[in-house]
Amino acid sequence: MKRRFLILLTTLFAIAAITLVIIQITQMRESAKMSDNLFNISVNNSIDKVFTQLDQMKVEDYVSQKERYRVLQYRRIDNMNEKMQDIIRDNSELFYDESRIRFGISTQDSATVLPKANLTSQEESTLSQYNTLLSARNRLMNSINYSNEQYRNLVNDHSIDPTKLNFPLLDSLIREELIINGVDIKPAIGILETERDTLYYCSNPGDSAKMRNTPYKYIFHANSIVTNENLYLVLVFPSSPIILTSDANKYTVLSILMIILISALFVFSIRTISIQRKLDEMKTDFISNMTHEIKTPIATIGLACEMLQDESVSSDLATRRNFVSIINDENRRMRVLIETILQSSKMANKNFSLSLKEVDLNQEVQNALQSFQLSIQNKNGLLETDLQPIAGTLYADQLHISNMVHNLVDNAIKYSPSQPHLVVSTCQEGQWAVLRVKDNGIGISKEDQKHIFEKFYRVHTGNVHDVKGFGIGLSYVSQVVALHKGRISVESEPGQGSTFIVQLPLA
Ligand code: ADP
Repeated sequence: MKRRFLILLTTLFAIAAITLVIIQITQMRESAKMSDNLFNISVNNSIDKVFTQLDQMKVEDYVSQKERYRVLQYRRIDNMNEKMQDIIRDNSELFYDESRIRFGISTQDSATVLPKANLTSQEESTLSQYNTLLSARNRLMNSINYSNEQYRNLVNDHSIDPTKLNFPLLDSLIREELIINGVDIKPAIGILETERDTLYYCSNPGDSAKMRNTPYKYIFHANSIVTNENLYLVLVFPSSPIILTSDANKYTVLSILMIILISALFVFSIRTISIQRKLDEMKTDFISNMTHEIKTPIATIGLACEMLQDESVSSDLATRRNFVSIINDENRRMRVLIETILQSSKMANKNFSLSLKEVDLNQEVQNALQSFQLSIQNKNGLLETDLQPIAGTLYADQLHISNMVHNLVDNAIKYSPSQPHLVVSTCQEGQWAVLRVKDNGIGISKEDQKHIFEKFYRVHTGNVHDVKGFGIGLSYVSQVVALHKGRISVESEPGQGSTFIVQLPLA
């Protein structure tokens, strides 16, 4: 896939995704606004309903027990008075005389009382009923210290004394109404007197400060319930109010999830495409490098053979040795190269396994170094070795260990442009056999050090063919080390040379 097409695709997707997110956010805002309004309407309706309920209830139901009893007694007295008045109203011949009731004929100026003996039995029973009521009422009035004015005040002035409200009842009424209206959040409830700034009640003391600023402030109805205009019922909701049952919220959550999912899938696809692209590039690079790598030694060997066939050249021993060394060198390089590619691809196979046996690391290093001797000499280089005895036993795959050493030494020579100075050392450090390959070459930057063990990674030198290779050697070496449960590291500074350190566990 072309790079330009990929950029276009990403841009289009980004535009589409951003537009979608913007639309979604706008919709979410709208829906949040709507649910806010809906919430407010629901709360207002609930409180309205609660007030109506309180209104409908008798005052006695929500004032204290003691008050309730007094109201009851007053009501009874009131009833008796009413009944007594009814009796008088229904009997035109009855009238008061000296605070007693009598039968007779009364005019404006005079009253003729009928003697008791003249009364009918009906009139007699009415009289006795009246008098019984009278004495019962008087007894009741004396017992509760009745004052007509007090009674009127209590029964007709239905004002609420905030300290006497039945708060648990109020609490549960509000909660029930809120739930009925779709608000399943328990608010803190308070009674606030704004004139004196007094909080008479607060169901959650932690919210007392919020009670004064909450937008959910309701004046008690100025009807039969309260007369105090500064008395407010206040509600504080725990967090930003959301009506949890709202369908809009469910869809919003779902669409956010979908956007996240689509974005994740897109990022995944783009990543896969770009990895694929990188692999394609690597493959092309690999083939071109490989062709070049193999063509050069073949051409060099061919040329050297031609020269050796020429008797005038081959008769000189030094020249002949030189050509033979060139052939040997190129041949070794090709062998290491092909071996590395072959072994590396073998290792990628799931069924690959090492063939472990006791290996003498120093011997392997010596063997490898021997084959490099000539090329180092030709470059006027210097090879120092410090191979210390290793007491522990190294169980390893000889072929891969040998290839590993070849690769490290080959790199050390390759990346030391003029007069390589190599120090190859081995030693035992605790339970590890340690191999160090040090050179005075071009070095590796810290950033490149993170990647050099990756397959096909080559440090960018500007010209791919400056130093031959295809970025497979170190990845193979690190694979070999990992399979032996060892460790590999590099210490290097650009221009200061590099030291590759391999640690292999000893038995
Ligand atoms: P290549 O075939 O390119 O040598 P390697 O996997 O062996 O592949 O190495 C990966 C990269 O690490 C090389 O391209 C090179 O830039 C860097 N490198 C490896 N060894 C050395 C070294 N001794 N000195 C400097 N750079 C090195």
